[in-house]
Amino acid sequence: MKIVIVGGGAGGLELATTLGKKLGRKKRAEIVLVDRNHTHVWKPLLHEVASGSLDADMDSVNYRAHAHKSAFSFKLGSLTGLNRDEKYIDLAPMCDEDGNEIMPARTECYDYLVLAIGSVSNDFSVPGVADNCIFLDRPDQALLFHRRLVNQFIGLNSEIARTSSERTLHIAIIGGGATGVELSAELFKAREWFASYGLNHIGKQHLKVSIIEAGPSLVPALSERISQAVAAELLNLGVNVCLSTSVANVTGNTIITSAGERIEADQIVWAAGVKAPEVLRKFEGLEKNRIDQLRVNEFLQLSKDRNIFALGDCAACAIKNEQGEDRWVPPRAQSAHQMASTVGMNIMNLLENKPLKAFKYQDYGSLVSLSHYTAFGKLMGGLAMGSMNVEGRLARLAYVSLYRMHQLAIHGWYRTLLVALASKINHFIRPRLKLH
Ligand SMILES: Cc1cc2nc3c(=O)[nH]c(=O)nc-3n(C[C@H](O)[C@H](O)[C@H](O)COP(=O)(O)OP(=O)(O)OC[C@H]3O[C@@H](n4cnc5c(N)ncnc54)[C@H](O)[C@@H]3O)c2cc1C
Repeated sequence: MKIVIVGGGAGGLELATTLGKKLGRKKRAEIVLVDRNHTHVWKPLLHEVASGSLDADMDSVNYRAHAHKSAFSFKLGSLTGLNRDEKYIDLAPMCDEDGNEIMPARTECYDYLVLAIGSVSNDFSVPGVADNCIFLDRPDQALLFHRRLVNQFIGLNSEIARTSSERTLHIAIIGGGATGVELSAELFKAREWFASYGLNHIGKQHLKVSIIEAGPSLVPALSERISQAVAAELLNLGVNVCLSTSVANVTGNTIITSAGERIEADQIVWAAGVKAPEVLRKFEGLEKNRIDQLRVNEFLQLSKDRNIFALGDCAACAIKNEQGEDRWVPPRAQSAHQMASTVGMNIMNLLENKPLKAFKYQDYGSLVSLSHYTAFGKLMGGLAMGSMNVEGRLARLAYVSLYRMHQLAIHGWYRTLLVALASKINHFIRPRLKLH
């Protein structure tokens, strides 16, 4: 029996680890994880990688090394096709940075396939966005933003030192959801760190961060109370918040709003919603929703193919909200985590001819962390005894514990404790900001 999992992200890596330990180690099944990258960085950390407050190299998990430890095998490759009749997937040729082919196009056959390839930013076909904005979908994009940010800080610092220039570095973030507001706060913190590491000509007045949001409030997915608290904190930091402002076009470094206003920025980040990765569009005969997520049944199998599961951001799983209205499980790390656990259980049940378990989404709340300044959120479920608003240190602790839960799922208790300890030690011995 061969189980192939494509996508080693928040959900896929947890699933591969569980199945490797439960089935691979006992030789009850062959578990294969396919990912287009060599290493895993938990996606909710990408805004911290972009600002430099987190060094992706320090916090990444090497798939090959982790597979060796967890009794699954890892195949480097990018999914390009699916043959459901003959049960195999196509993987694109792998090339190095100079375009030389390292591995030719390949196929990988499966008995059960799990698609866990996440999502990509949705540009809603706004002209110029794909060419002129940076997305935070992948670590390399976050690193590109960071490299440019470092150069821009170094350049501006030298300019101010030489000419007492009044120029500001302007970073515009389109989208006032969690990613946009978290990144804006990280950038102000980054300026403080840059100043303490010698780039001290850049004052608060030299950094301008704008959030351009089409809706009437920030973090619209959260309650009005949290939305207002976040807005007040960002205004206090100095973020320029433009609400009810939709973007019509982006050309070069200029954003043109629907009202015709032109906003010039040194870097433009697009963080305004997600859709399923393009490759899923090609898969014919499968049910998808408006943003091309794959429709799954209550057991998280594709509605049109019971040998294929989908989980996380690429899955469209219908649920009812508190008011009994139809909606989809939200594209969040906690959804991917819960779905990975149900898919793992269902694959084991299939091998043992047991009935499958229906997926039940449990919303544990939402949190927004504004760097080291503060955090806001709402906790739900067991510990919160219903629902509880949190802020400050408690909210920050809950936010960090989300990542610890992911680490626990892939490393177990002992290694997670060691990793947490190592990160505390690094806090003292390494710079607080990635400086190159
Ligand atoms: C900046 C940012 C902050 C966020 N903050 C939060 C938060 O605070 N809380 C929260 O709950 N959620 C947050 N999210 C959302 C969360 O990251 C996602 O919902 C979650 O990562 C989805 O998990 P996943 O397993 O479906 O996909 P991912 O974690 O995105 O993993 C997908 C994997 O598939 C691989 N892959 C993609 N395409 C292919 C292909 N064609 N072939 C092979 N491999 C492929 C990728 O390399 C990746 O490893 C945030 C997202 C971002 C971008």
